[in-house]
Amino acid sequence: MSQPDTGAPAPKKALEVRCPSCGTMHLYSTENPYRPFCSKGCKAIDLGAWASESYRVEAKPSSEDLLDDPTA
Ligand SMILES: [Zn+2]
Repeated sequence: MSQPDTGAPAPKKALEVRCPSCGTMHLYSTENPYRPFCSKGCKAIDLGAWASESYRVEAKPSSEDLLDDPTA
């Protein structure tokens, strides 16, 4: 980490990636079971968001929503 930033590609070293969930830069390590996420929590958040999104798509709108449907 004492190397100056010359713009050259980093040597084979620890790779830093951005966590898709929280955006924190963290080391991408094969020892990290949650990669590319920084932690278990972030992976859970991402999976939870995906699951809830899927659920919303699957769920049918209520009758109230149907009354407001502009495509009806
Ligand atoms: Zn994260």
